[in-house]
Amino acid sequence: MVIVGDDPASRIYVNNKKKACAECGIYSEEYALPESTTQEELLELIDRLNKKSDISGILVQLPVPEHIDETTIINAINPNKDVDAFHPVNVGKIMVGNFDFVPCTPAGVMELINESGIDVSGKECVVVGRSNIVGKPQAMLLLHKNGTVTICHSRTKDLASHTKNADILVAAVGIPKFITGDMIKPGAVVIDVGINRLENKKLCGDVDFDSAEKIAGAITPVPGGVGPMTIAMLMKNTVRAAVINRTGKQS
Ligand code: NAD
Repeated sequence: MVIVGDDPASRIYVNNKKKACAECGIYSEEYALPESTTQEELLELIDRLNKKSDISGILVQLPVPEHIDETTIINAINPNKDVDAFHPVNVGKIMVGNFDFVPCTPAGVMELINESGIDVSGKECVVVGRSNIVGKPQAMLLLHKNGTVTICHSRTKDLASHTKNADILVAAVGIPKFITGDMIKPGAVVIDVGINRLENKKLCGDVDFDSAEKIAGAITPVPGGVGPMTIAMLMKNTVRAAVINRTGKQS
């Protein structure tokens, strides 16, 4: 795990990931670099970790400081050690449906759906948000499970007309309580990816839980829903990376 600077949210995420590694018996190293770290210094560290045989997975906690180009950093990670699945090689593999690593948050959402016995096939799936980390890969994973997928975003006209159609609704917007009960189809599966901190310091999702739970058939809470699943999927990707790096066998 590589963390650059002292963003408090990133610190919490890295601590949680470190704890999860310890609980799973996965050896981990943390590289906490100062905000002043240059892009070249970070690239040198990634190069060292790419070559280190006892390290199977590399995670650079995002966001990196503004003077560092995020894409350059992601592209520098060996795709076989890219446990976040952000490298274009892994993104491409997700597109064609033959992948080793899945971005952790969308993978966690799929695991929740699967473990709840919900069949995606033929369902109207609406993903609100089109980020590279959540929205886009989420849509692909639902498509691979034969969902009929719509991606909504900041330029979508009449958002509610789409969300009200969803049998499975995934909210990944980053706006507190954005999806309200009146935007949801009765009985729908509502999965809230959002993690927003309110002024009173409490966490809340992108879904207005109180109004949504009265309409939804199933709904995930924040905190405690998708967040812990994201970390669990990171552990799964890390074990997969260890196997690939030991055996050279890919999907
Ligand atoms: P992002 O800011 O990169 O993307 C937000 C998306 O929302 C954009 O694609 C944008 O088009 C869309 N959007 C913005 N305003 C909109 C509007 N008015 N109507 C419709 N769509 C709109 O965010 P992200 O990285 O995808 O994260 C989304 C949320 O998920 C954030 O709250 C983030 O903290 C959370 N998150 C949670 C986890 C987890 O582990 N649970 C992981 C990653 C992100």
